[in-house]
Amino acid sequence: MYFSKMFLPTLREVPAEAEINSHKWMLRAGIMRKLASGIYSFLPLGLRTLKKIENIVREEMDKAGAQELLMSALLPAESYRESGRWDVFGPEMFRLKDRNDRDFCLGPTHEEIFTETVKNGVRSYRGLPLILYQIQTKYRDEIRPRFGVMRSREFIMKDAYSFDRDEAGLDISYKLMDKAYRRIFDRLGLEYKVVEADSGAMGGSGSQEFMVISDIGEDGIAYCQACGYGANEEKASCMPPPKDLLSEEELPVEKVLTPNIHTISELTGFLGCEPTKMAKTLIFKADDKPVAAMVRGDRELNEVKLKNVLGCTELEIADAESVRMVTNAEVGFAGPIGLKTKIIADHEVAQGKNLTVGANETDHHLINVNIGRDFEAEIHDIRSIAEGDACPCCGQSITLARGIEVGHIFKLGTKYSKALNCNYSDEEGNERQMVMGCYGIGINRSMAAVIEQNNDEQGIIWPMEIAPYHVIIVPVNVLDETVMNIAQNMYDKLIESNVEVILDDRNERAGVKFNDADLIGI
Ligand code: ATP
Ligand code: MG
Repeated sequence: MYFSKMFLPTLREVPAEAEINSHKWMLRAGIMRKLASGIYSFLPLGLRTLKKIENIVREEMDKAGAQELLMSALLPAESYRESGRWDVFGPEMFRLKDRNDRDFCLGPTHEEIFTETVKNGVRSYRGLPLILYQIQTKYRDEIRPRFGVMRSREFIMKDAYSFDRDEAGLDISYKLMDKAYRRIFDRLGLEYKVVEADSGAMGGSGSQEFMVISDIGEDGIAYCQACGYGANEEKASCMPPPKDLLSEEELPVEKVLTPNIHTISELTGFLGCEPTKMAKTLIFKADDKPVAAMVRGDRELNEVKLKNVLGCTELEIADAESVRMVTNAEVGFAGPIGLKTKIIADHEVAQGKNLTVGANETDHHLINVNIGRDFEAEIHDIRSIAEGDACPCCGQSITLARGIEVGHIFKLGTKYSKALNCNYSDEEGNERQMVMGCYGIGINRSMAAVIEQNNDEQGIIWPMEIAPYHVIIVPVNVLDETVMNIAQNMYDKLIESNVEVILDDRNERAGVKFNDADLIGI
């Protein structure tokens, strides 16, 4: 390609909306243009890389035995109604009506449609196992589209779905996808971690996310350098603390006046005791019923863990009015003694001795409170893991990092086959539900993630396998005939050898040309 003929509208200025490197470089290097919030067009240079990423994904999926197909993005409401997700998706789903007033949506993900397709196409065990996939545009009206195509409202996803006879079959399909994903992200040149993810209170028996390590990542992840354990922060289990060797004697409870002291840090200052000797009592509403949850003063409560323990659908922190109702005190003085609600306490609270807690009386706290003696609670792991905690697998130290989720593999089980009657008949002629898995990769999010990890002050630094071109020839003076002849000769030879090459034939200063070559990352 001759540079002079390329449609490559680069920008000198950093667009104000671009907060992170990848977004900035994708706009400046003429890779994409914004049309509206969370909606982008890919320009020729960007499309080349996008297609290369798609092809890597395609090759690895095919190698794993998956078959490609292509579904519509415009989908009738019926199967989403059957699965219940017409309601579950809420405002994130783009909905529309046709001229006959029938409901449609722009597909946010395609579990229902794949399930219907396989239900109608496979009748017996002979048609299984089956893994189908597509590389296709998805629509989600995200609350907060941001960071360019990292979180956009229209994006390209590779979504695959596996159909098996039983759990053992699903295990095999899931492992195949896991392996294929690792090869894909290796080939993209990404530094990533595979982490266990939460699969909800009732859903699924396994779920892993592929996280690209980056400070701008929206997810917290915990991993162990010693044994390779990794988990989403929401999921990472915390080991109960070792039983205290010098077991402390239980002292009598005392009420202390703590006027206008609402937070743990105010309380530590006021009482002069360590946050580890305090327990926070937080009041939640679980499906509208109040419940109290306790973690040590220096810890964060993990709402996902709490939700799973309670098995509820909605969990939210109670408003001030409800806190007053439950505790008879202003916010900031909740404690476990005398509460009429269910109490869930973290392991560390259960093992702590002589703790300071709220008194359920405005401006008062209690000291020397002990579980078992002074109050009862259900004991569970409900805190978030912290840097340096013991790894739940090997006991070594945990590291925390931020991650960008580029892929997700998930054991669905029979959730959709049950809802949509996707059955097969086994060897004995019995009707059985197919056991499913689903597997997604964000194609343009992966592209942004590659740039996020591979750039410098001058621009993008593409890994060779997905660079839009492999080589750029920059003749310093195009008016010099000898130089141009040599450049043209090189160009022809490279093309002949199937090397993708740009010849910068523009009559520009050398500095300008070098800057552009650096910017577009060849
Ligand atoms: P997130 O937690 O980031 O919203 P998700 O759990 O909703 O992701 P999935 O439904 O598992 O994502 O989708 C599969 C993949 O699609 C994700 O791993 C991600 O790479 C990509 N993806 C999801 N939402 C978006 C989006 N709004 N913009 C770009 N890519 C996305
Ligand atoms: Mg999402």
